[in-house]
Amino acid sequence: MNQTIRKFSRRFLALFSVIFQEAARQADHAGLSRHIVALNRKTSSTDIINELSVCLKNILNYRLFAFVVKKEAGVDVWLDPEMYKTAFEHIILQDFHLQNPADLTYLNNNPGRDSRQKTVEMDNLVYYELTEENCYARLYMLPEKPVYAFHDEVVTLILQGCATALSKQLKIENLRNAAVIDPLTGCYNRREFENQVCRHMASATRHKNNLCLFMFDLDHFKQINDTHGHQAGDLVLKKIAFLVKDNMRQGDILARYGGEEFIAILPETGRQKAMELADRLRTRIAAAKIFYNDSTLQVTASFGVSELIPGMDMARLIENADAMLYKAKHNGRNTVMPGLIKVCPDAAVTI
Ligand code: GH3
Ligand code: MG
Ligand code: MG
Repeated sequence: MNQTIRKFSRRFLALFSVIFQEAARQADHAGLSRHIVALNRKTSSTDIINELSVCLKNILNYRLFAFVVKKEAGVDVWLDPEMYKTAFEHIILQDFHLQNPADLTYLNNNPGRDSRQKTVEMDNLVYYELTEENCYARLYMLPEKPVYAFHDEVVTLILQGCATALSKQLKIENLRNAAVIDPLTGCYNRREFENQVCRHMASATRHKNNLCLFMFDLDHFKQINDTHGHQAGDLVLKKIAFLVKDNMRQGDILARYGGEEFIAILPETGRQKAMELADRLRTRIAAAKIFYNDSTLQVTASFGVSELIPGMDMARLIENADAMLYKAKHNGRNTVMPGLIKVCPDAAVTI
């Protein structure tokens, strides 16, 4: 197995002391074995990282602050939900030579958005680098107790277990993602949308929950390509998809339906709330500025909303959203149909 695990923090190494060699006996080896077996039983990278976090806490009393996995485009980030996202985002972008927060995909849904966020003394962070075949990752940790020499060995063992589990899982996820994810925007593709909408419709019917869809299509998008080139168009699609995903709830599902047209499933959402969300997104899209070379690009989008009515099938639910989107285009674009409720003031943002 071509595996290397290297430590890079000199600060961390400086803390080791021979005085504490004997403390190695304190490591809970049985607990450690249990965690390593558990790591290999997990069936998603998020579950592997969650298990790793519990393991580090139980065995060494380390707090896993963040786990960053490099992907073909951008990185996946698991971030301690109580930690301050903005400050850490800066570190990840720098460490992974990335330019834009849009390149970061958060595995644990909107971490660090609430008032419980703690700022952290970045100088106390230690990090490990983990490399295995198809997997490159970094763990950032905060030791909450004194660091002993034996920790080094234990961390190495834990990381070996984690690297094997993660590498195996990434291979599976890469295969699955290739089938369900649109590579440009990172949204679900149309086929996966259809799978998911079936599941969500069945669940909404069974539990008598609301369910809505919205579709949106970028207005006069061809002009972006014609004026600034196809790459500029690609960048706009990527940024708008990120903006929309970032402003939706965790359980909402966004898919690229084709070209510059997207569709979203909003579980447990009634018509009024769906229209409010669509209008909020419409406003944010219109206010967003996208920088491409020396140009500042702006786009608008037209939205159509539909609601699941008992007895309705998937085709009808989608047709209704499509018909509303068609109306929105004919009503002058940059509009939500049905209805139009102004829910938030236009605000200039940069994405
Ligand atoms: P409307 O407001 O009526 O929707 O006008 P539009 O220009 O957005 O619509 P039209 O259907 O005329 O053009 C859509 C354009 O979207 C044309 C196509 O080249 C472009 N497009 C579709 N997929 C991609 C893509 O992946 N990347 C880029 N750059 N452009 C794309
Ligand atoms: Mg269009
Ligand atoms: Mg279109």
